[in-house]
Amino acid sequence: MASRRRTPIRDLPLPAGAHMSVAGGLHRAFERGREVGCRAVQIFTKNARGWKSTPLAPPDVKLFRDELEAGMAGATCAHASYLINLGAPGGPVAERSLAGIVDELQRCEVLGIPFLVLHPGAHMGAGEEAGLDRIAANLDGAHAACPGFRVRILLENAAGQGTCLGHRFEHLEGILARVHEPDRLGVCFDTCHAFAGGYDIRTSEGYEAATAEFDRRVGLDRIRIIHVNDSKKGLGCRVDRHEHIGQGEIGLEAFRCLVNDARLADVPKILETPKGDDMAEDFMNLRTLASLVGTSAVPPGKPKGRGKMPASRPAGTKRSTKQRSRAAGRRVLR
Ligand SMILES: [Zn+2]
Ligand SMILES: [Zn+2]
Repeated sequence: MASRRRTPIRDLPLPAGAHMSVAGGLHRAFERGREVGCRAVQIFTKNARGWKSTPLAPPDVKLFRDELEAGMAGATCAHASYLINLGAPGGPVAERSLAGIVDELQRCEVLGIPFLVLHPGAHMGAGEEAGLDRIAANLDGAHAACPGFRVRILLENAAGQGTCLGHRFEHLEGILARVHEPDRLGVCFDTCHAFAGGYDIRTSEGYEAATAEFDRRVGLDRIRIIHVNDSKKGLGCRVDRHEHIGQGEIGLEAFRCLVNDARLADVPKILETPKGDDMAEDFMNLRTLASLVGTSAVPPGKPKGRGKMPASRPAGTKRSTKQRSRAAGRRVLR
């Protein structure tokens, strides 16, 4: 599909952005981010589905750091490889995982990236407690191998597929309680994963309950990055499938609560929603989020959740759910 030229969204009213491709060089993520109007960016510093990493070349590091320091230093994060499993109970995967997370930390440190988002890990049948022990021990190992580093690992709440841990807030609580240096860890909160893990954030009451529990167990002040994703699958499905904002099972109300939550106002919010090379979907989703800023909850009696459109959408543009999902991948925006 031919790429369509777009004007960047000007003055995004919240610190939001998207995961960006690093095709053509790591620094290209910032160019792409600017093209859309992002105020935050997430990247992979290496192939997320492989173990190998090519050493960072000094000129590339300079290009990246120049861009980073030009404006997004506090709102940039890297996402660690999906292969890393700090919960693996021994064997080659366990060894590679520890080496892998140390390598990722070193790359972030060289690049000046402040946060590295990590899925806590899977216990592979060893059981939850054993898994949490293993994850904490490996995090201690990673910290010991990286003394004095400025980059922080952010444990991400998980969808809970298979034996993956982190879909219950008490898992994150358990890891933080076990590690030797909890102050070296932060947290990344993913809306899709929370919903898939069974936290019903579809209403303002549900959102309040879930964030209160998170605050009690983990601490909202530990959240350094928020992954803003709707979910293709239902509540408690333990399946990780991201959907465009307001077009999935979560619906707009949760995102309205989130973008207007003063406690999280300064936390960078990053989309990990499906998209094509021209990033049209990022424009769409960021505009949706922006349209929710400063709006109040839907009055009682109106349908909540799924299928609701942003308040700012002009009348006459409403479409059926079917039409909308057909257009979801490639909607043309204003
Ligand atoms: Zn995520
Ligand atoms: Zn996910």
